[in-house]
Amino acid sequence: MKNTDIQKYFKEVDDIVSQCDRCGTCLTVCPLFGVKDIESSSARGKNNIARGMIQGVVKPSAEVLDIVNFCLLCRTCVDNCPSKVKTDNAMIVIRQYFAEKNGSPGIKYKALGGLMKNRTLVKFSAGTLKILRKIGMNTLIPHGMAPSEFTRKQYLSSFAGPAALGSLAATSPIDLSNKSKVAYFKGCGMGMMFPDAVEGTLAILRTLTEPQIIDNMCCGLPHLAHGLRSDFLDMAKENISLFEKADVIVSDCASCSGTLKHIAAHFTDDPAWQERAAAFSRKIMGISEYLFQVGYKPQHRVDVKMTFHEPCHLGRGQGVRKQPRQLLTAAGKFIEMAGADNCCGGAGSFHIDYPAIAQSILDKKRINIENSGAHIVVSECPTCLVQLNKAAVQSGNKFKVMHISQVI
Ligand code: SF4
Ligand code: SF4
Repeated sequence: MKNTDIQKYFKEVDDIVSQCDRCGTCLTVCPLFGVKDIESSSARGKNNIARGMIQGVVKPSAEVLDIVNFCLLCRTCVDNCPSKVKTDNAMIVIRQYFAEKNGSPGIKYKALGGLMKNRTLVKFSAGTLKILRKIGMNTLIPHGMAPSEFTRKQYLSSFAGPAALGSLAATSPIDLSNKSKVAYFKGCGMGMMFPDAVEGTLAILRTLTEPQIIDNMCCGLPHLAHGLRSDFLDMAKENISLFEKADVIVSDCASCSGTLKHIAAHFTDDPAWQERAAAFSRKIMGISEYLFQVGYKPQHRVDVKMTFHEPCHLGRGQGVRKQPRQLLTAAGKFIEMAGADNCCGGAGSFHIDYPAIAQSILDKKRINIENSGAHIVVSECPTCLVQLNKAAVQSGNKFKVMHISQVI
């Protein structure tokens, strides 16, 4: 690794972590510090280690990489930090530094990145999971990565009665079909794990417009999060080109919409892509954000208590908070649960890498859902839905888990 590259990474990290004045506010909110009560699990601890590494007093060892990888990238620290220190971004840059220093982020992340970069493999995985689900073998997939989806049809027959099935959708008061070319961005996780929710999203969009279905690439978050930055940039360029003719790009995955909205920030020093990336980022909307903006009215109002688990990438990542809640208020009896915006412990592959810690975080979420008395917990991110499905099973199926597109 060239010395100039090291200096570049260290400067980027230093610009962030030097703003940390070690006040300790983040210790009270970091979900990991809440489970593993050691300084290095908190933002303050991670920033101190990063600072030590930059100053040469801490060796960039495997132990340091473990500490850097042990982060949900949930931004809870950033939101609560008086200086708004972007510890999550610093961790991503240090992971990138280690991936280049070691020549790879490791076999596991390289394999995951390779799968997500290959559209054929993503489609093949989605097809395989569909078959496994059909023959009831999906639960054999470890880490709950192929949950049995509670479909919109099952939801309506369970909570609204057969009369609601097949009834016509209400017409939205605002028709954007003549004003905007709306494209759907299909996230890999949504396509592979929650096909009924994807159908739900498309059905809703079709009540409003004629959505363009584009065979897009992965949003690149798994690559960015694990140091595969050049793969991330390659996929970003391909997605930018693919969606150039769309006016609005709607995603039903908060991780995708959050990542795609920030793509422009990765091209600020690339004159050939700067403008195109900025134009692309400006077009991105999450599904609840888009539906709220166009004045969409839920197709059914069902007498069921619903609560919302706010994905980190939706609330803290994009500031989209009121939109899903208002849509759910119109669709059923919405109840706000305690800690709705607390991370569920999913965080990409975190729940696979650190199952025990992720489970402790999820236990808190499950208790909050149970205490809310909701029949349904709704979310807008496939990794959250995977975690919540585990919580539902662990609660003895006291509640069902659904994507927002399946209930509105
Ligand atoms: S809250 Fe912010 S400034 Fe305070 S210790 Fe944590 S990261 Fe540093
Ligand atoms: S991003 Fe989340 S897990 Fe990571 S240090 Fe901040 S609060 Fe803790």
